Amino acid sequence: VEKLTKTYNSAGNALTVLDQVSFGIAPGISCAIIGPSGSGKTTLLGLCAGLDQPSSGSVQLCSHALETKTEDQLSQIRNRHIGFVFQSFQLIPTLTAVENVMVPVELRGGDYKTVHARAEELLHEVGLGHRLTHYPTQLSGGEQQRVAIARAFINAPEILFADEPTGNLDTETGEQVERILFELNQKQGTTLIIVTHDNELAAKCDRIIRLKSGRIASDHLTAADTTLVHEH
Ligand code: ATP
Repeated sequence: VEKLTKTYNSAGNALTVLDQVSFGIAPGISCAIIGPSGSGKTTLLGLCAGLDQPSSGSVQLCSHALETKTEDQLSQIRNRHIGFVFQSFQLIPTLTAVENVMVPVELRGGDYKTVHARAEELLHEVGLGHRLTHYPTQLSGGEQQRVAIARAFINAPEILFADEPTGNLDTETGEQVERILFELNQKQGTTLIIVTHDNELAAKCDRIIRLKSGRIASDHLTAADTTLVHEH
């Protein structure tokens, strides 16, 4: 991410919510993005994932310069390289758990049987082997979030972006979801980038980037020696 700036224009007022933000994230690590409400965390995540366009600056995602890509190319890059987990799950209500997990590959045109088998396997991995044919309304919040995680992993993404993945869950279920995320991170080497208000979750990540008013206020590694990388 290089000098990333995002300015919104609302009611004739220009509001800069990200101001020349630069950083790089090494493959395979887990990184928390924290900061007060309105500091630009979700905006930053959306720009990094190519879901939104910056006002200026650039994002390189798995060696793709996003600003040079068309919408179609961006959607291909997203499908190939990233998964996204939202606070509000965003499952499709008319599809069962296993069908929801299959959606990203079906969009790409994968072989139904193979995709179905992989979706089942992932649901088993997140502890939902007994809920394959349940619809979202028949699942608890934690179960829905685990379906969303399985869906995010169906394409074996290099990077998983998660926006407050435990924000809507009780402590116990939140911890279960955290365990799944870190286990998948460690087993498959998926880079985790997590926006969170939960300091305990942030402390479990390898690195913490703290935003304040659209700028990086601090950037720490959280290894046992808590090596300080930057204080801005
Ligand atoms: P929270 O922790 O509350 O989720 P955040 O750090 O994720 O906050 P963002 O959602 O990135 O913050 O929003 C940053 C700022 O940008 C906020 O002040 C918000 O009101 C503003 N903003 C976000 N989207 C838009 C938009 N589409 N148009 C105008 N302003 C916007």
